[in-house]
Amino acid sequence: MSNISWNTIKRLVYERAKGCCEYCQTCEYNTGQPMHVEHIFPNGGNELDNLCLSCSSCNLSKSIAISEIDPETGASVTLFHPRQQTWQEHFEWVDSGLRLYGKTPTGRATIIRLKMNQDRLVRARRNWIATDNHPPSTTSSGDHDSL
Ligand SMILES: [Zn+2]
Repeated sequence: MSNISWNTIKRLVYERAKGCCEYCQTCEYNTGQPMHVEHIFPNGGNELDNLCLSCSSCNLSKSIAISEIDPETGASVTLFHPRQQTWQEHFEWVDSGLRLYGKTPTGRATIIRLKMNQDRLVRARRNWIATDNHPPSTTSSGDHDSL
């Protein structure tokens, strides 16, 4: 992987995720804001299996965290790993797509840490839903295709 340029890596990560955040599913076509290439494990390197596409909100909220307290059990759990876990097993859309519900400790802790249901996101989702642009019909999180 070291012989691949960072620009190529960014393009591969973007295409793999189809331009949508692999945590909260916010899509670039809705926000118009550039997506971030996120290091799932902060010191895990630039390998494609340690990278995911993230919206700025999730990336900045996650920062260097890899775990968070599950609000239901009080246990510290590892945050959702888009390359090793399947999005649909941990999250689902509720309130017609306005909010995310954590189906597992990992899902709940990730929603808290990444502030995936913060007010400004919910307000934005209301507009995306009204224009039939949310939730995304497909998610790449379950893709374990090889690049
Ligand atoms: Zn996000």
